[in-house]
Amino acid sequence: MTTQQPEFEATRACAIELDRNDTMHSWRNEFHFPDKRNGRDAVYFCGNSLGLQPRRAAQYVNEELDSWARRGINGHFRGKRPWLSYHRYATEVMADLCGAHSDEVIAMNTLTVNLHLLMATFFRPKGTRRKILIESTAFPSDRYAVVSQLSMHGIDPHDGLLEWCPRAGETDLRLEDLERLVADNHDSIALILLPGVQYYNGQVLNMPALCDIARRAGCPIGLDLAHAVGNVSLALHDWGADFAAWCTYKYLNSGPGAVGGAFVHRRHLAANDRQPLRGWWGNSEGSRFRMARDFDPAPGIESWQVSNPPVLALAPLVASLELFREAGFEQLQQKSQRLTAWLEFLLESTLPDAIRIITPQQERGCQLSLTVVGGTREPKSAFAQLDPLNVIVDWREPDVIRAAPAPIYNGFEEAFEFVQRLKLAIGG
Ligand SMILES: *Cc1c(COP(=O)(O)O)cnc(C)c1O
Repeated sequence: MTTQQPEFEATRACAIELDRNDTMHSWRNEFHFPDKRNGRDAVYFCGNSLGLQPRRAAQYVNEELDSWARRGINGHFRGKRPWLSYHRYATEVMADLCGAHSDEVIAMNTLTVNLHLLMATFFRPKGTRRKILIESTAFPSDRYAVVSQLSMHGIDPHDGLLEWCPRAGETDLRLEDLERLVADNHDSIALILLPGVQYYNGQVLNMPALCDIARRAGCPIGLDLAHAVGNVSLALHDWGADFAAWCTYKYLNSGPGAVGGAFVHRRHLAANDRQPLRGWWGNSEGSRFRMARDFDPAPGIESWQVSNPPVLALAPLVASLELFREAGFEQLQQKSQRLTAWLEFLLESTLPDAIRIITPQQERGCQLSLTVVGGTREPKSAFAQLDPLNVIVDWREPDVIRAAPAPIYNGFEEAFEFVQRLKLAIGG
């Protein structure tokens, strides 16, 4: 994508025309938008933190509340979507979004919990291989999880943590730096854990290359797809990632604290070489209620389930994934690239001296991370001005505003409004 789109003109009329020509535009009607404030409609570019509520989410939750009311325990076996296998209503679309087979993907637990479960299995320090490689700007929860996994094995994080760092004055992670780091430490790395999309600067990492690097180094790799799933195209199976985990409340719009997802590659499932931590829901459905002492694993990644799933928290996810299926991810991707290019064009033409985009142009999904470099207000107080203007974006310390237009519900005129209000907020 370049910014030299001939049909882009920084006017509201152009924005309205782009919305009119957008075949995906009507999907926004499937979502609740936040209330008006001070006479202004909300501009919601925060789907990277919490996606908007699908209108049909309430219906899906109510169906299960109703099933519980009418059937009690029998809701596990009867009704439109029996709870015993309720998680499966999320499997197919999530597998498509991840580029995985349906026996490699499951909705369960939450992201950090899944990272722990997966690391409990995939982090096996042995001999000289005792380190975990992460990126130095990793999301705090991932870092805490990794550090505690090291500690659990009696490894001092100062020795056990290897960090892939951006160069001085940069925020991008460079692949050649990772290659060098891995080459220099290949005897000591036991696990690599990296994001698909970096949460702070929005950089999409070259995931197939990351998987190649891990394979050549002979160590497993896990991907945190929190900011990637529902945002960029993924091919986890073909890339050969060992495992992955993600939350679903960001681009997948499943609601606050909703159930997360996990992937384990078929080669591990088939070889049964990675024994997960067990619980009764990982036991095969046929023998689960025999209450046997011996574990009889369910097929595929279903054997990694631990507890019986929170059906009420899965229901909005199932509702939202149906929207993705109906809309089609490829079309959403095309719109996403155009919408983000439009936002970039508007920022560069309207606020050339006040805003700098730090997201690398050739490696991005829908998110643009912005720093305020001009205007009359300090960056953080400029950000604070956005709230009364009913612009919902987020701030990440030390100095970044993240704006993530989600193609399934955001539009071109909203991007225009965003830039107009940002200009007001910045002042000058
Ligand atoms: C959003 C996010 C999380 C959140 O973790 P939860 O366990 O869902 O609270 C963790 N890691 C990354 C990289 C994230 O972007």
